[in-house]
Amino acid sequence: MSHDPISHDDADLRTRLIHVGSPALRDGAGPVNVPVVRTSTVRFADSAAQQALQARRGAGERVATYGRHGLDTHAALESAITTLEGGYRTLLAPSGLSAISLVFLALLKPGDHVLVSDSVYAPVRKVDQVLLQRQGIRVEYFTPGRDALPDLLRPQTRLLYVESPGSLLYEVLDLPALAAQARERGVAVAIDNTWGAGLYHQPLALGANISIQAATKYLAGHSDVMMGSVTADTPELFDRLAATHDALGLSVGADDAYLTLRGIRTLDVRLARHQANATAVAAYLSAHPDVFQVYYPPLPQDPGHALWKRDFSGANGLLTFAFAQNDPRAAGVFVDALRYFSIGASWGGYESLALEAAPQRLAEHTGWPGGRSAVRLHVGLEHPDDLISDLEQGFAAVRDRLRLSA
Ligand SMILES: *Cc1c(COP(=O)(O)O)cnc(C)c1O
Repeated sequence: MSHDPISHDDADLRTRLIHVGSPALRDGAGPVNVPVVRTSTVRFADSAAQQALQARRGAGERVATYGRHGLDTHAALESAITTLEGGYRTLLAPSGLSAISLVFLALLKPGDHVLVSDSVYAPVRKVDQVLLQRQGIRVEYFTPGRDALPDLLRPQTRLLYVESPGSLLYEVLDLPALAAQARERGVAVAIDNTWGAGLYHQPLALGANISIQAATKYLAGHSDVMMGSVTADTPELFDRLAATHDALGLSVGADDAYLTLRGIRTLDVRLARHQANATAVAAYLSAHPDVFQVYYPPLPQDPGHALWKRDFSGANGLLTFAFAQNDPRAAGVFVDALRYFSIGASWGGYESLALEAAPQRLAEHTGWPGGRSAVRLHVGLEHPDDLISDLEQGFAAVRDRLRLSA
């Protein structure tokens, strides 16, 4: 039996994620992890070798003739994400948002129309306002559970862009239905798959053509890397994305690629613990008299529960709740009082975070009842009892403050 290279095409995804991208052994031995290969210049043995490699690259092969193309470390991370997403090939981008911009810029031209679900990560609207509008690309936001997609598709529609579950309130979309309706009309389907991290949601198998992740979040998993990924389902689509990726000169550092790949090796165990902790916190919050509503798809009362159960195999550490007290100050007082939950944007690291959910962003969501103040939690890997007692003293601080000023 050979130990080089390890190939487990028939194994469970979790097994394959442990081994994908392992470096080949040389002279019968080698390290477990792929080396961090940093370079700008790629050296060639002679001109013939240079030309041969350039020709292979021109024919679409994944070889690097310049540092910007990314060498071994990058290639290993790309294969790991391709394995995770079940796609054809993956491109890396310097952040999740740049991965999203890449998809819009690669697939759209002046006069085109794109449908975007209204619960998307809020900065997507900036991509629309800053990059797409001035190119004459029309973005239309729609509410998947309410609006009938076939009525919104126009002859100019080139792309359906969704995120499921959505940001802040975690609206779960019926991706197989939406993707089938779009594809029937020749419209490409892209999804932001950051929430499910690939492990708990495989959109390409449910009809999407492109899956995007902010690898900054759970793939890297330690709040120390910015990284984005775009995985395509076919060579044709990949080539279109790759040409724009190349023209934009998008490049990521080998150290960051290494750290992201290292994060992927423990994705399964980390996500399972995030889910277990968030489930405990969600149960605590759901029973709390000062909580109006908890948004977490695994809760049976969550509006997205049935679709989540059908299309996802797990959940993460993100949840949002609205206060029972109808007072705009509640969220701010609450997050200020917490000790283990730091105040901060982003999520997916090992640590707990709390963020006052901005009212104007909540108002972009059709499912938001309005008025109340709300907090988004990222439940980290601390012991859940400590997190729950921290939240309990946060609620006590809110009650004290609101009573004092009554
Ligand atoms: C954070 C986030 C992004 C953006 O990722 P960055 O790496 O921070 O640019 C995109 N989509 C979702 C759903 C996110 O949560």
